[in-house]
Amino acid sequence: MNQDQDMHMKYQVKMNKTSHEYFMNEALKEAQKAFDKDEVPVGAVVVLDGKIIARAHNLRESKQDFSAHAEFIAMQKAAKKIGSWRLENALVYVTLEPCSMCAGAMIQSRIKHLYYGAKDIKAGAVESVLKLLDNRFNHQVIYEGGLEATKASNLLKEFFKKLRV
Ligand SMILES: [Zn+2]
Repeated sequence: MNQDQDMHMKYQVKMNKTSHEYFMNEALKEAQKAFDKDEVPVGAVVVLDGKIIARAHNLRESKQDFSAHAEFIAMQKAAKKIGSWRLENALVYVTLEPCSMCAGAMIQSRIKHLYYGAKDIKAGAVESVLKLLDNRFNHQVIYEGGLEATKASNLLKEFFKKLRV
């Protein structure tokens, strides 16, 4: 086995289903932080070489910043951390389907894989309103939705129920 194959094997072993669940649960912890601040509960983590290099949650209200979405902030932090805007081998785990801005930022930053939880039927730009990532851009982001989706959507439901009370 050459070194490349060996690396590939290790990568496969590391990125099994349990890891995906683990990382999505870390993103859910971030979503809970947003919930506790009366922000729409969405959380995200950026993973590189099997490690979380950045984590963030939605801060749109606190910052009064329309771009302060969880995954957007997490990607900005990740780029700062590695000192490059190219997040080529990075994976993004976000609890809610990304909007058009965030999905666009994933193309711009060359994200390798996107994993998300619940669908956003009103603003989702991966499968719901738009299928942005299915287009032939200069970079293709591979994506998979529905990871720990029930947990993510239950947290959102609870949040909106609290708002109405
Ligand atoms: Zn967004």
